[in-house]
Amino acid sequence: MNDPLDLNEFHWLLTIVQSIDVGVVVLDRDYRVQVWNTFMENRSGVQPKDANSRSFFSLFPEVDREWFSRKVESVATLGTPAFTIWEQRPYLVRFKNYQPITGQEDFMYQNTTLLPLRSTNSEISHICLVIYDVTDVATNRHQLQAANAKLQKLSSTDRLTGLYNRGHWEESLKVAYARNQRYGNATSLVMFDIDHFKRVNDTYGHQAGDKVIERVAEVVREHVRDSDVAGRYGGEEFGVVLSDTDKAGGRFFAERLRKAIEGLEVLHEGQGIRFTISLGVADLSRPSISHADLIAWADHALYASKKGGRNRVTVYE
Ligand code: GH3
Ligand code: MG
Ligand code: MG
Repeated sequence: MNDPLDLNEFHWLLTIVQSIDVGVVVLDRDYRVQVWNTFMENRSGVQPKDANSRSFFSLFPEVDREWFSRKVESVATLGTPAFTIWEQRPYLVRFKNYQPITGQEDFMYQNTTLLPLRSTNSEISHICLVIYDVTDVATNRHQLQAANAKLQKLSSTDRLTGLYNRGHWEESLKVAYARNQRYGNATSLVMFDIDHFKRVNDTYGHQAGDKVIERVAEVVREHVRDSDVAGRYGGEEFGVVLSDTDKAGGRFFAERLRKAIEGLEVLHEGQGIRFTISLGVADLSRPSISHADLIAWADHALYASKKGGRNRVTVYE
């Protein structure tokens, strides 16, 4: 395009800038508005005649002046464009979000571009700011993140009890084990199994059995600390990893749990179901090769509790 724009083309360009669905603002080197397109008018509520020649910073007091000036100065000095993206800075100017579908976000997420504008003497006398509405992108991203977090939780928890499932629980135990091996903090494990659970199923039915398992999980949740990790190890077998707790502390915890379950009555179709649990406790005060040792020891102690008459705690010595 060697010829200067003829008047027709100039009007076409003006129409395009006015109707395009992005914000277009031209600023002079004193940050005074020279161009203000319809997008800007509609979103800000400020008409072009009122925006014209006004300072950008008085129109948008929320703009971080120092940061924005630095950005603009570098565009003007280097003669190259600059960009901002919503992930780093959700918006440059605060506009309300009116998009019906993405209504859950209350402001407009924005990407922006700053372009150097050269006058005929090739001096950069103005800067063009382009504002893109990327609210739908941001909303989709947020929804995806929420869905992923939910999936993550679903894949790590047991459906019936809401406790960690065996896979996730064992991974957590491995982490606790690694920490113990590195820092030497006390770590103990309590494994327990419901006594004569087959009888519960046989007497009251499988649904009653499920209810019993759910209630046991609730009691476990009521007794653990935030730093403890409780999981459903098998059908009616559970494991609790106790951090910063030795086997004496583990025994104390296990005994409280045993008593709580002993005192529990689960109501099912008008009948009260009572039951007990047998527990095994072990800690990492002796040499071990892997986290599996700790499970084996606690399991061994649990077996001793069963053999010893059930409804009791055994510590692996
Ligand atoms: P013990 O005192 O020796 O532990 O006797 P027990 O009857 O509890 O024996 P065991 O632990 O071997 O039996 C477990 C039973 O639990 C077998 C299985 O049918 C039942 N069970 C396992 N998972 C579930 C479940 O999710 N719901 C129900 N209702 N029953 C389950
Ligand atoms: Mg059992
Ligand atoms: Mg069992």
